[in-house]
This record gives sequence, C-alpha cells and structure tokens, in this order.
Amino acid sequence: MYIVSACLLGDNCNYWGGNYNNDKVKDFLKDKQYISVCPEVMAGFSTPREVTEILNGRVITKLGEDVTEGYIRGAQLMWQAAMEKSAECGEEIEGAVLKTKSPSCAAGKNYDGTFSGKIIDGYGFSAEFLKKKGIRLMTEEDFQDD
Ligand code: SF4
Repeated sequence: MYIVSACLLGDNCNYWGGNYNNDKVKDFLKDKQYISVCPEVMAGFSTPREVTEILNGRVITKLGEDVTEGYIRGAQLMWQAAMEKSAECGEEIEGAVLKTKSPSCAAGKNYDGTFSGKIIDGYGFSAEFLKKKGIRLMTEEDFQDD
C-alpha cells in the first residue's frame, strides 16, 4: 500500500485552500491500496492557513511564527494512520507519493526558507520521517511525461 499527499488527489487542503490534483498519480494508484493524508490538517492547522517554509530546521510562517511542533505532530499522526491502514489492508507500506516543495511533504526539493521562491535540496518533516523509516519516496514529478 502507498501513502499519498491528499492534495495530489484533489483534496482542497493546501495552504490557500486549493489542491494540486494529479491525474497521473491517481492513475498509478487506481489498482492499489493507499491512504490519503495531509499531515498539516491532521495536526490541526486550519485551511486556508499561513504559508510556511523550513529555515534552519524549524518551520516558520511568513510572519515569523515558529510552528515546528505542529509539523512534528503531523508527521507522527500521518505515520500512525498509515500503520493502521497497513494493518487493516494486510499490506506493507511500499512507498509514498508526496507533493514537492512543502514543509511537510517535500521529498528532495524544497523552498529555502526565505519565501523568495528559491528551491534547494530538502525534505519536509513528514517526508523526512518516512525516509528515516526506510519508506521509498516518490513525488508527482516522477509521474510526469518525459
Ligand atoms: Fe497537505 Fe502535504 Fe499537500 Fe501540504 S503538500 S497540502 S501538507 S498533503
């Protein structure tokens, strides 16, 4: 079974209340077991919510508030839900399909923490959590046309 960023499946859970619906990701999942998760919503953040980026290992809103604890909690809750789904469907977690450039879900590419649009190598808190668990990470960019 797979863990999937809910916004890639069309859930309006991103910071402005929109989504990043991706039909190729949906197509990949159509014959597979999966759980759709939004760690930020799971942690109790509202939608819409303030935009955040990771700077020096902390999650900071554009207004400068440190909301790191919520992102840690979101990763834990996402993992708990995934373990429950795995037990329920009787399948190991094979991988995760995660949204790029997110302080929760980014897996390899992320904003640099200056809110300037600059991209650097980096992982969101939930993606980092999954990486440490040895889960294979993919992003929507793995499903683009060549
Ligand atoms: Fe939620 Fe992750 Fe999508 Fe952000 S990228 S809206 S945290 S599922």
